[in-house]
Formats: sequence, structure tokens, C-alpha cells
Amino acid sequence: MTHGIDALLSRSHDHWLAAAGALTFETRPFIDGHFTDALSGDTFTSVSPRDGAVLAKVQAAGAEDVDRAVRGARDAFDDGRWRDLPPKERKRVLLRWADLIRANAEELALLDTLEMGKPITESVRIDVDKAAETIAWYAEAIDKTYDEVAPTPRDALALITREPLGVIGAVIPWNYALLIASWKLGPALATGNSVVLKPAEQTSLAALRLAALATEAGLPDGVFNVVPGRGEVAGQALGRHPEVDKIAFTGSVKVARLFQVYAGESNGKQVAVEAGGKSPQLVLPDADIEAAASAVAWGIFYNAGQTCNAGSRVVVHASVKDRLLDALHRITAETFRVGDPLDPATVMGPLVDENQLATVLAYVERGVEDGARVAFGGGRALGETGGSYVEPTVLDGVVNTSAVAQQEIFGPVLAIVDYDGDADEGIRLANETDYGLVASVWTRDVTAAHRAAKRLRAGTVWINTFDASDVITPFGGFKATGAGRDKSLHALDAYTALKTTWINLA
Ligand code: NAP
Ligand code: MG
Repeated sequence: MTHGIDALLSRSHDHWLAAAGALTFETRPFIDGHFTDALSGDTFTSVSPRDGAVLAKVQAAGAEDVDRAVRGARDAFDDGRWRDLPPKERKRVLLRWADLIRANAEELALLDTLEMGKPITESVRIDVDKAAETIAWYAEAIDKTYDEVAPTPRDALALITREPLGVIGAVIPWNYALLIASWKLGPALATGNSVVLKPAEQTSLAALRLAALATEAGLPDGVFNVVPGRGEVAGQALGRHPEVDKIAFTGSVKVARLFQVYAGESNGKQVAVEAGGKSPQLVLPDADIEAAASAVAWGIFYNAGQTCNAGSRVVVHASVKDRLLDALHRITAETFRVGDPLDPATVMGPLVDENQLATVLAYVERGVEDGARVAFGGGRALGETGGSYVEPTVLDGVVNTSAVAQQEIFGPVLAIVDYDGDADEGIRLANETDYGLVASVWTRDVTAAHRAAKRLRAGTVWINTFDASDVITPFGGFKATGAGRDKSLHALDAYTALKTTWINLA
């Protein structure tokens, strides 16, 4: 972490309250290098879940605004103002952008925290700092990436080169407004594409600031555009636009499938999808229960459970379940202080909005109807604040086929499923889900760990840890979770197409 980021992490609650009070918001779409009024005339309201206060009226891009953004992006791509720059020039611009993101970390983190309720220290440490790190990582990669020469006979030379796809439509959710954006923007821009980003309604303001900083860093006009707007309007217009070459989507399964339909009904554009999970932590009887309990608590209560790879399901051997539950209860009470996300002492902020809160509480009720027991939590918290807070919640005695074990709740609600048989029975239950994003296995037996890791159907399997990650490894999933991977050097392939050039030397 840079010095500036470290300094921000030691600011007081009073500092953040004052800084929040002094913020101003840019609410217009960013198209062709400039903030510009939406032609649609439509707006939507950004409400802060910390207290229910209205932050801003954001201009909602309509289909005509999306069309302007895509045409700008297309022109920028076609005339080569970005993709034809030497890789080390693109690197220089992207590195400057990463520096500017860090230099503006206070403002970006505040926008993120005010809009979606993430604790301010997490906005600084994860959403802002890791987004800058991701952009810089792809910047550094791009002038060190070589193409290939095929093993032809002697009288020929065949080059296999990568070319950028063209215009990328990035459609993202609200849970990590900057970080998930950077997973798409880093590799897409480094490889020379243009991007039109449709942020989630709940988190448009930070994305708009990000775009202005890119221009300040020297990114040519039109290469990166942001169209805040309604999913079914702006998102759909992007998904159906004939000049968009690829959609890079993170969000729900339902909307992911809509983008596949939009693609099929328009120009057959590529669609990459990361659509969440119901990720299991499998606890075998010989596990280090204290370590597992801590990872289980962080796995589900971090970001108030609004994380695509939340460990929302624990599959635990019955012989150790009570010990795990006791440790989980103690660690949660000691650690997960629910409070104002502008207070640096807060570990769990509110949910993103009242809709999400209603959804989460309805799931708790549903779980109880289906026979689960509320081990702790289960209710709204800090109601007097006007914010959308819920208690960290654990449901015990959950049947794996029930709704709370199968559907993505996207809140701080853990389902505990126990089993009595051997490890294969645990693995079978862990895999009994439509999703396949991440999984973990807790055991001291190296053979059992590797057996489980091979059999668990998930894009990432952790052994005796959870949520350990970095830009260096791929992220994405099997089954309904999606297609394609974010992060790592493999993401460069996701934003490029291979070209063969065969030269006759005879
Ligand atoms: P979502 O509905 O899938 O939205 C994701 C993105 O798609 C947003 O930018 C959204 O815009 C846009 N969108 C929505 N409806 C659309 C449509 N008909 N056509 C085109 N684009 C559309 O996810 P969400 O609203 O952010 O959250 C809903 C649920 O999705 C959560 O409860 C959770 O289960 C899941 N989720 C998963 C992840 C993940 O990381 N995999 C992240 C967040 C949420 P709007 O903002 O206008 O809706
Ligand atoms: Mg939505």
C-alpha cells in the first residue's frame, strides 16, 4: 500500500464525516472524454444506505446516450488513437491513471462508502487500492507479453498474434464498484480495446470519477466511457448494440442470461459472465476448528455478505459442528461490529439498500419455515439510524436442498448443513448446487485435502484458508456461475482474438 493509502487508514470518524459533508457529485454520463447531459432527460436517485439520505439525482443514460458512447468508443478504436500506441505508451498512461486513483483515494472511497455502505477502511484498502493495483498490474504486463510462432515446416513462417476485440461493454454490480470495474478495465484497455461501462444504479458516482481520472491521466477521448442508467434501458441497449464486440458482465444469473439473449438477438457478440455463487466451506472432522470458524465468519460477514464468492454455506461433519458453531458465535460477537460505515471502527456496514434488506430478511423467514433454526442474529439492526443494517446471522440445521442453501442471498446469512458420513458425502453435498465459483476444504490430512480439491466443482478451491486472492490468479466459475475468468494474465486472452499470419518462404 502506498503512503497516502496508509495515512487514510488512520483518519478518524470525525474526519470522514466532515469530508463526506464537503463532497460534491458529478452525475452526468461520461462520453467521448467529457461529462455531458443525458439526452434521455431521465434521472434516478442515489440513496445512502447508512442513513437513508438522498445523495444525488443521477442522469440516466437512455438508448440514444448508450449509442453515442458506443459510437465514440468505436471511432476511437477504428482510428487507432489508443490501440496503435506502442505498448509502453499505453503502459505509461495506465500507470499514471493508477497513481491518480490512489491520489484521489479519499474521494473515491467516500463515494463508494456513501453509495453502498461498505466500511470506509474497506473502501480504501480494497476497492480503491486494489483497483489501482489491478490497473497498474495490467499496465506493467502489456509491454512484457509476447506473441507466438507456430512450428511450421522450414519453408513457412506462421505468426500467432493477439488483436484487441474492439468495443467492450462492461456491466457491473454495486458490491465492489471500483475493483470489479478494474478487473474488466485493466486487461481490456491494456490490450487496446475501447470500453463503455454501465455501473450499477446504486454505485454510479465512483465510476464516473474513475473515468474523469483516466482522461486526466492521458487516456484519449472515447476510449473509456461511463453510462450510468437503468439496467433494462442502458444495460439492455449496450447488450443489444451491434457495434459492441463483447460484454463483460458480473452480477446475477438472471441478468447474465439476458445478456446472452441480447447477444444472440443482435450481433452474436461474446458474453463473459461471472454470476455469483452459493459457495461451500467443507469442514472435515480433523479440521483446525478455531481457524475454520474465523474463516467462516469472515467468509460470510465480510462486506455484509454482499460478495459473489461469499462462503454462504458451511458443510460440516456432525461430530465437530457444535464446536464450530460456538467458536463462530464468539468470533462474530468479538469482531463484527455493525455500525456507521464512515466510522473506521465499523467492521460491518449496512446492506446496499432497503430492497436488499427486505430480500435478506425474507430469506431468514423462509429458512425458518423450511425447518432451520436461527443460531444467532436474524433481525434488522440500528433501525433508528434510517440505514439498512442487519445482524450477522447463522441458520443451523439447514437441509441442503432448501432455498437458503441453494439460492444466493447476498447478505450476512450463513447456512450450516451437517453430514454424518465420510468425506465423499461432504464433497457430494458441497457440490450439490447450481453454482461453482469458489469452495474451501478444512482438514489436516493432505491426501483428503487434495482429493476434495480435485472433486469440488469450483473455479477456486482453497485449502485451510478462504478468500485468499490477488490479481495474479484467475477468478470465475463453473456451472451457472458463468463463462470466462477475470484477473491474471489469462484475462488478456479474454479481450483479444488470435490472428494467424502464414508466410510462404518457399
Ligand atoms: P443484477 O441485477 O444482475 O445487475 C448487475 C448489472 O446488470 C447492473 O449494472 C444492472 O443495472 C444491470 N442490469 C439489471 N437488469 C438488467 C437488464 N434487464 N438488462 C441489462 N442490464 C441489467 O445484480 P444487482 O441488481 O446488482 O443485484 C441483484 C442480485 O444479483 C443480488 O442480490 C445478488 O444475488 C446478485 N449479485 C451478484 C454479484 C456477483 O458478484 N456475482 C454481484 C452483485 C449482485 P441496475 O443497477 O440498473 O440494476
Ligand atoms: Mg439492480
